[in-house]
Parts: sequence; structure tokens; C-alpha cells
Amino acid sequence: MIDKILNKTTLDRDDIIFLLNLNTNDSTKLFEKSIEIKNKNIGNKVYFRGLIEFSNICEKDCFYCGIRKSNSNFKRYNLTDSEILDSAKFAYTEKYGSIVLQSGEISSCKFTNRIENLLREIKTLSNNTLGVTISLGEQSEKTYKKWFKAGAHRYLLRIETSSKDLYEKIHPKNKKHSFEDRLNCLKLLKETGYQVGTGVMVGLPFQTIENLADDLLFMKNLDIDMCGMGPYIEHEDTPLFRYKTKLLSPRKRFVLTLKMIAILRIIMPNINIAASTAMQAIDPIGREKALKIGANIIMPNITPVTFRNDYSLYKNKPCTNEEASDCKNCLEARINIAGSEIAYNEWGDSLHFTNKHKNKLSQI
Ligand code: SAM
Ligand code: SF4
Repeated sequence: MIDKILNKTTLDRDDIIFLLNLNTNDSTKLFEKSIEIKNKNIGNKVYFRGLIEFSNICEKDCFYCGIRKSNSNFKRYNLTDSEILDSAKFAYTEKYGSIVLQSGEISSCKFTNRIENLLREIKTLSNNTLGVTISLGEQSEKTYKKWFKAGAHRYLLRIETSSKDLYEKIHPKNKKHSFEDRLNCLKLLKETGYQVGTGVMVGLPFQTIENLADDLLFMKNLDIDMCGMGPYIEHEDTPLFRYKTKLLSPRKRFVLTLKMIAILRIIMPNINIAASTAMQAIDPIGREKALKIGANIIMPNITPVTFRNDYSLYKNKPCTNEEASDCKNCLEARINIAGSEIAYNEWGDSLHFTNKHKNKLSQI
């Protein structure tokens, strides 16, 4: 059965459910297939995105997230512009090729203008060579356009789960946390011209294997360019923590995430897939395992060390006490061991996006 499914040209929902339910022995076949497809379509290059988590101030209250507005058990921070620019400069001089600017969600003119200026300054300090991904949540069409014009060309906005029902269980029921608005933002980002990335958390309370199969089909139907997904990790100061005993074990959540990545690589062979930090929070070489079976992007944390502990989405966040340069050396060694090659000074844009646009142009 497994061989028959893995040899099909298109996987349907039942096939995906079957693959997600595979036992350990049979999962090896799934991973062999995803490795083969990865090597054939995008090769073994790994691209860096220096991650700057510049502020943990957030206006939202997602039930799973440690930096939600209602959690007062930690210190809020907001890097200064010059701290952010110094981190970007570090990524530039260390030949990372790209950065990701991420923070809690803030919607205000002041915030929009600040990001716009920072984007322009980052482009200037890097002679226009540093690629910039942003992950700043739900914003208006006007704001998305402003930031795109200022130089951001990729945007990460996880749908978290494609099931409206589950989405509503893990978010407060109010206008600030609407499933339809999140979907609409993904549509706006695509229309603006960004390379669009989305993703889900794997192993959420109430989540079923069917939900996860639907998540993968959702990503395929949305025709995403990039994906960042990782295991859900409970945080004691959040409302979802009360379901702790109902969760899969961290190991099972980890393996399920590996299967999600492998299947996504099979159904979307040339998109960019990130090996998320949460993988490493469960397994010390979790990101390398993800790279091996299908991921091709890694996001070394280059936030100044003093602030890293306070971007506490979940407990046991890795690399919170290493200087960015140590982090780079350690990653380099690990990635080489995993048989991949780091592509320094390259943007590593999604091949899926590039090909889509080439095809569009050739039709004109
Ligand atoms: N505020 C922006 C947003 O929500 O899109 C960007 C930052 S937010 C911290 C980035 C991602 O962290 C979310 O999309 C969510 O999937 C992930 N995250 C939050 N809490 C988590 C948890 N407890 N376990 C795993 N991932 C989590
Ligand atoms: Fe804020 Fe993002 Fe965390 Fe939700 S997931 S509380 S929007 S930082």
C-alpha cells in the first residue's frame, strides 16, 4: 500500500491521512521519498534567514502563545532602531543573505512607519543585497503595500490551523482573532506580490490527523511559496496549558511534524520549507533532522542575547544564551554533518515563486 501511494503523481486526502498514520518502520520509506524529491527539485542547499525577534509586545491574546497580551509574568522589550540595524548589519557582514524581522502584532501608524523606515535602512546598509522576510501578523492592505515597496519581499503568516472550528478553540472569540480575517490577509499578501509563507502548529489540543491532512491540502490549494511549521509546545502561562494531559508526547509531536514536512515536500516539491526552532526545543538536532527529510531554510537567532529569553513563546526555547556568532559556528558544523551545504550570500528565494512568475511573464 505505502509503495503504491508513494508512487502516485497526486496524493489525495486519504493518502495523506494514511502517510500521517505510518508507524516508525514505514515512515522511513516516506522520508526516503521526500529526500529523493528534495534533492531532485531543489538540491541540498540550505539558506539562512537571520532571525531578529525585535519586540515581544503584542496586542493579541492567542491562547497558545507565551507573549500574549494578557500574560504579565515576563518582561516586555522593544529593541531600539539601532539595535535592530546592528543585528541586520551582523547578518550582512556574516553573509547570511537574508533576515527575518518578527515581533508581536501591533497595528498603528507609528509601528507601520517605523517598520517602513527600518526596511529602507536595512536595504541601504546592505547595498540592497540583504533579502528581507517579515512576520508581523495581520495588517491592512495599505500597510502590506507600504512594507513591500520599502523592500520586504517575503511574508510569513501562519494560518495556525486551517480548521475554522479548531482556530476558534485556540483564539479568543472577538474581532481581533477572526479566522476569516487571517485568510483574507494571506490573500492580500499574495496580491501585493510577496512570496507568501504560511504554516501550522502540529499537536495542538483537539487537533486530529484529518485536520493536519487538510492543513497540507490548504497549503497546496493556496499555492504557497514558503512554509514554516513546527510542533506546538505548551506554555504554563497560557489558557491552552490546561489541556496539557490531553496532548501527544513531545516526541510524537516531533515525529508528526517531520511527517508533515516530508509530505509537504512531496506535494509541493519546490517551495521553501523552514526547519523551525520549535523542532530543536524538543530534539537537540531537530532542525537538522527536518533539513534532512525536506526542509531547506534555517533561521539562526541573531536577536541580541539579553532579550532572547523574553521572546518566550514556549518553554525550553533553544539558543537563548549564545552569541549570534557562536550560534553560526555551531549551526555550520551541524548542517555539514547533516549532509547539506550552506548557501552564503544568497537570497534563496522560493523556486516555486520564481517559476510561477517566469511562467506568467512568458504568457504575456
Ligand atoms: N505575531 C506574529 C504572528 O502571530 O503571526 C508573529 C510572531 S508569532 C510569535 C510566530 C509564531 O509563533 C506563530 O505563528 C505561532 O505559530 C508560533 N507560536 C506561538 N506560540 C507557540 C507555541 N506555544 N508553540 C509553538 N509555536 C508557537
Ligand atoms: Fe501575538 Fe503572534 Fe503570539 Fe498571537 S502568536 S499572541 S499574535 S505574538
